[in-house]
Amino acid sequence: MEIPPRVRWMQDIFGEYQRYFTFLKKVARHEFRTNGFTRITTPILELKSLITHSTGDGSDIVTKEMFDFTDKGGREVVMKPESTPGVMRAYLEHMLEEPQPVYLYYIEPHFRYDRPQKGRYRQFHQIGAEIIGEVDPILDAKAIYIMAQILDGLGLAGTYTVKINSLGVAKEREKYLIELASFFENKKHLLDETDLARLEKNPLRLLDSKNADVKELLKVAPKMTDFLKKDSLEFYTKVKEYLDILGVKYEEDHTLVRGLDYYSHTVWELVDGSGRTQDALGGGGRYDGLAKSIGYKTEVPAVGFAFGAERLIEAMIERGVQLKNKDKIHLYIMQLGDEAKKLALPLNIEARKKWLNSLLGLGTPSIKVQLKKANRVGARFVIVIGIMEAKKWICQLKDMDRGTQIEMPLDNVLDAVIAEVGTDALSFYHPSRDFIISDVPMSEEKMRRVSMD
Ligand code: AMP
Repeated sequence: MEIPPRVRWMQDIFGEYQRYFTFLKKVARHEFRTNGFTRITTPILELKSLITHSTGDGSDIVTKEMFDFTDKGGREVVMKPESTPGVMRAYLEHMLEEPQPVYLYYIEPHFRYDRPQKGRYRQFHQIGAEIIGEVDPILDAKAIYIMAQILDGLGLAGTYTVKINSLGVAKEREKYLIELASFFENKKHLLDETDLARLEKNPLRLLDSKNADVKELLKVAPKMTDFLKKDSLEFYTKVKEYLDILGVKYEEDHTLVRGLDYYSHTVWELVDGSGRTQDALGGGGRYDGLAKSIGYKTEVPAVGFAFGAERLIEAMIERGVQLKNKDKIHLYIMQLGDEAKKLALPLNIEARKKWLNSLLGLGTPSIKVQLKKANRVGARFVIVIGIMEAKKWICQLKDMDRGTQIEMPLDNVLDAVIAEVGTDALSFYHPSRDFIISDVPMSEEKMRRVSMD
């Protein structure tokens, strides 16, 4: 029987790549925490209607890319292609009474049946944030600023461009779309099948065209910003003023629309400067109309963004950003025989208590085999406990970098290793000591607040 292969364009994330992923999450979480955000996780499955009503009937995601199916209860569900609709749904269900705006972030897998190519996967991860419940152009500017801070924190400063645009409000867009459609009406022969469908369904998407002729035409086509009325212009101007105050450099790009239907006012994208086709590291925008489009009684001001985690990791790797390896094995404890094993096991546990990363030799392999393994896992030190050593409560300590070996009492050996690797390299982390502040039963009211229904 053949081992079933991986589902196409879905990845196993392990080893070095996983280390980049962990670093990315750390940088993002720190940035979010210090800006007052808390984390949300929404379900992988959402009702299909939530996505069609928000992401949009005419979007590529809804027309081509959904992992959708009918569940055993007959519900039409979708493996979430993005998190914004789910976060808004969760906000409307749980958070209307919280102090507004609420600042939420997520680090989540998403699923799109995308055409496979580099930088596009069918399961990918997004690190994103949503600020919901209050309207202020400062929030748009801050969202962009936080994205830039995260990229700089990843070692990508100076390698990306911030592009911004304003899509105004629905009424302004309607007028613009009529003008845009009539501009293209007598140029249909230059449009391919995809762009013709766009012209038919949602001409705004033409701004996203990959067709060189269309790109050329767009330079002289009507611009959205020319259709903005006073309020929208003022909002957009303020966003730019705040970006200047925050020291974020940006380029205005009147063709920037983003692939989701719910945006209004500010939209933006952070693009990699390497000229790759899949160059958007992330993007975002304001989506005041989304709540209403999924059935809430009024508009709810909201702004948010998402980075593609894999794109960030690939950009870091391409730019040569190298990371310290916190998983490095400091110590390999080699045992030769049953008596040695009885000492090696507690030493392995003691090493962990002293915050060293250690591995224990297993089974009954020869010195040569164990040494080879210690080398393969990159252990800096090897402790050898043989039959003689076990009897005398001593060991041989091998420094693999220097190629030296000394005999030492078992009682001192871990401190000798720590003195060499340095306390900076140790894995100090004690969640149960650092986080649990009480184990007294909670009041019923508090219980209700922290539990799920
Ligand atoms: P969106 O939700 O479409 O605004 O996408 C936000 C970011 O997610 C994009 O800028 C990409 O970096 C990333 N992204 C979107 N689709 C994919 C995909 N299929 N594979 C990998 N990354 C993606």
